Amino acid sequence: MKLLIILLFSFGALGAYTPSKKLKLYAFNCGDIITGPLLALFTRKYQDLWAPKKEWISTCFLIRHPKGDLLWDTGLDDNYAHLKKGKSFFFGLTIHKVKTPLLQNLKKLGILPKNIKFVGISHLHEDHTGNLRHFVNSKILIQEEEKKAAFSLFPSTYFFKFDHYKSLNAQIVGLKGDHDVFGDGKVMIIKAPGHTPGHQVLLVRLKQSGSFILAGDLYHTNFNRETKVIPFFVTHNGQNLKESIEKIENLRKKEKAKIWIQHEPAHYKKALKPPLYYD
Ligand SMILES: [Zn+2]
Repeated sequence: MKLLIILLFSFGALGAYTPSKKLKLYAFNCGDIITGPLLALFTRKYQDLWAPKKEWISTCFLIRHPKGDLLWDTGLDDNYAHLKKGKSFFFGLTIHKVKTPLLQNLKKLGILPKNIKFVGISHLHEDHTGNLRHFVNSKILIQEEEKKAAFSLFPSTYFFKFDHYKSLNAQIVGLKGDHDVFGDGKVMIIKAPGHTPGHQVLLVRLKQSGSFILAGDLYHTNFNRETKVIPFFVTHNGQNLKESIEKIENLRKKEKAKIWIQHEPAHYKKALKPPLYYD
């Protein structure tokens, strides 16, 4: 009896994985991005060339569904948490910093990488694929065009980091357009190319909180959304991006959804933080 109690207690302490009874949406800070003049390449606002450093965020999300868990984007590499000054890019013009590793955030909710059924990636830029390598048991959902570019001769021309996903080819599913993840219409991947060849966003239809569109990099900031700017920097196809913006804004109206710009710090700031969630 004593042994049984000890065993039960230790399983409890390990936090045995259990699927969620209802649909929930959690938002994590998956790293901060600090840019200086590079900001102007995203906003096309030339006074930004002299702007003080601006802090962006890399937001990723956990969608808990009775049929399994979906992680949406994996943020900046958890290893940056060990770097005091963060990881420098373009000779210090951009700095990537991680305060709390994604894996730690998941663990706090009793979830290990092996428990994640699906990983949806808005697109394969390295600020979204930093921790993809940990999810070796998950199905990785991207658009077919993104997968083709990812395994083309020169993925770096798309600003993809081959090392982040090269060993995961067998797990990567190339979707042919919009996709209903759990088959009940509650969590829908919506194709929205332009920023990259197969960029996509996620529509989550929640009972109490209403619908959210997790917009990937369809927009980088609130300013870009308001001014409908097409960034100079890393836009794969401007015409496709314009069409995707129109498609997603129409969807937003139809669904009365809130658009969540994943790099916009203001959106994360006012959001519910784990262990709180939207449902
Ligand atoms: Zn990004």
